[in-house]
Parts: sequence; C-alpha cells; structure tokens
Amino acid sequence: MKIRIEDITADAKELAFAEPENEINRVLGAGPIREYHLEGPVEVSVSFYRAGTELFFSGKLKTRTGAVCARCAEDFDAAGDRPFRFVLSPKSIGYDDDTLRAEDLEFSLYEGDEVDLSPLIREQVLLALPTRPLCREDCRGLCPHCGVNLNRGTCDCRVEILDPRLEAIRSLKLPRT
Ligand SMILES: [Zn+2]
Ligand SMILES: [Zn+2]
Repeated sequence: MKIRIEDITADAKELAFAEPENEINRVLGAGPIREYHLEGPVEVSVSFYRAGTELFFSGKLKTRTGAVCARCAEDFDAAGDRPFRFVLSPKSIGYDDDTLRAEDLEFSLYEGDEVDLSPLIREQVLLALPTRPLCREDCRGLCPHCGVNLNRGTCDCRVEILDPRLEAIRSLKLPRT
C-alpha cells in the first residue's frame, strides 16, 4: 500500500486496507520462525498526518495466524489485534538506517514522492509474533518419555523419568532441628 507524500497533511486521515499475506508467509517459511503462517491478509486500519517533515502513522493490525505450539506441537489459532505506530523522517536530513534502527524500531526514513507502508506493516506483523509460540501459557507439553500430550491426558512415566540425582537427595536423612 503506497501513499503519496503530498496527500499526507497536518489533518489526520484514515485508511483501511488489506495487506496480502504471501510475502510475510515467505519470510516465515524461510526464516528462523517456521512455527507460524498467516491464514489470510492482514487487515490494517491506520491514521496518518504530517508534523513538519515527519510523518506519523498509528493504527491497528488484525491477523489470522496459524501456529504450532513449541511444547505440545499442536496447531492453534494465534489470531490477534495489535496496535502499531511509527514515524518517518525524510532521508535527506542525513540520518542513515543503521543509527535509526539502533535507536528506535518505530523510526524509519522516507524519500521520493510516496511512502510504501507494506514493508513497515510486514515488519510490525513479524515483530508481534512471540519467538516461542505456546498454545496457552501453562501448556504442559508432551511427555518426553511416551509422547502423550499432557494437556489431554496423563501417563505412567513420571516415576520412571525421575532424575536419579533427585532420588539421591531425597534419600539423605536430614538432621532434626
Ligand atoms: Zn501446547
Ligand atoms: Zn509418558
């Protein structure tokens, strides 16, 4: 989604659009985060305005994201809304990308006649994904011994997989105080 710089004025404007999921899924498939894929386009609603030479964007992203739990390997729906904001400064001012990036992830540069929001939106979507997807905070995962999903059932392995070092500590007789 591209916006012409001359259309960005001091009066805030609203825009809603769908950012295609293909490019994000390509990055997810190739990068270190393989546990996620988008099931449809990202729905974006954004409000933008200019203050001097800086362009301000803020809005909300809505994604339908399929994920694979890092503990129990089940598919789950990690859909979510996420607010975002970023500020664009003209490249001509003389910053370079590296100094900006080190200072603030929400800061970027623009040049030319238009701003392409797509790469910024894609970056926000990727940043929003936790590095370790969990189907729920207290997911109990799989039994390392028999592979039973411990969210759904129990197994009889617990005794067998006790750490022998723990057993040794337990068998110590502690003096009474
Ligand atoms: Zn899980
Ligand atoms: Zn087991």
